[in-house]
Amino acid sequence: MPIYLDNNATTRTDPAVVASMLPYFTEQFGNASSAHAFGSEVAIGLKAARKSLQALLGAAFDHEIVFTSGGTESDNTAILSSLDVQEGRDEIVTSAVEHPAVLAVVEHLQATRGIKAHIIGVDASGRLDLDAYARALGPRTALATVMWANNETGTLFPVAHLADLAHAAGALFHTDAVQAVGKVPIDLQATPIDMLSLSGHKLHGPKGIGALYLRKGIKFSPLVRGGPQERRRRGGTENVPGIIGLGKAAELALAHLKAAPDEIGDLRNRLEHGVVQQIGHCQVLGDRENRLPNTSNVAFEHLEGEAILHHLNRAGIAASLGSACSSGSMEPSHVLRAMDVPAAALRGAIRFSFSRENTVEEVDRVLQVLPEVITKLRTLSPT
Ligand code: PLP
Repeated sequence: MPIYLDNNATTRTDPAVVASMLPYFTEQFGNASSAHAFGSEVAIGLKAARKSLQALLGAAFDHEIVFTSGGTESDNTAILSSLDVQEGRDEIVTSAVEHPAVLAVVEHLQATRGIKAHIIGVDASGRLDLDAYARALGPRTALATVMWANNETGTLFPVAHLADLAHAAGALFHTDAVQAVGKVPIDLQATPIDMLSLSGHKLHGPKGIGALYLRKGIKFSPLVRGGPQERRRRGGTENVPGIIGLGKAAELALAHLKAAPDEIGDLRNRLEHGVVQQIGHCQVLGDRENRLPNTSNVAFEHLEGEAILHHLNRAGIAASLGSACSSGSMEPSHVLRAMDVPAAALRGAIRFSFSRENTVEEVDRVLQVLPEVITKLRTLSPT
């Protein structure tokens, strides 16, 4: 059986999620806006899914959840909305390690609308430069947007504190929590952020569905305009099966977080301990104290990550480059470059990302294969 350790890229849709969706294609196929039984039974399903998301996020109201097509749309929406509603403010503060779903939007706005962006750096562990962040906020800041957890290293950011600082400057605060939701407990009644993005396919839900949490009372300007769906915050007939599946995925994620809070972290730690013990000249990247429990980014010095992945793949083990290259280029990613990872380690970084479906046996198999792969490649490597 192949071993899948690339769960930050995407997760397997849980069979229970698929089962929950199926009736919404063929039996409950109505349009939630229709004033007949076909419509109302779908509206009831959508409400239940919204409640499941509310529970997973610890949100005060279910209507704070706006369904979107995924993390990318939620990020775009939050950023563009903030510039619309924050009159007289034309600056954005963000981090150098955001996903392109944030950074590409910010760059586009800089180029086309003259928005000023403050891109805050990180230290060698991927931690945000808090002084620079505080200094960048001011009377012209429309929005501060900093991710809850980094997709490449798993590093967690102190979003509650960052939100307080943003609010003190009169700015809105958004967080891309695509990698955090379902992996760490979230309590939005105790965390003063205004907007949060999440994505179904990162938590065993379907692809092409996500949500934007929008705190009650926050001014908002829709990105997708059209019909009155989602309380006029996102036009278009809802992706009903997707939303139902996302609701089920949220319910399962919350149950797993409560029932086995340490399970995934234990697997990750077992892998890391084994790797560090058995293989020399490697380092674990990211903030070791504040990290997603499922993510391990290990740099094997003087090796090419692609070669390691190739050998792992041949042995039936799927992981990914720790420093995901931008498409078509062999340049290491902006995340590890922002962390100033030394050149000898930069290219040999591999990301292992776990889910609740992984097992101890799988970790032990990786610990059998990986040292052999590294030894073999090092024997061949000129450095
Ligand atoms: N933000 C982060 C941190 C991600 O890891 C991803 C997906 O890789 C996204 C946003 C984009 O989400 P989606 O694939 O749902 O558009």
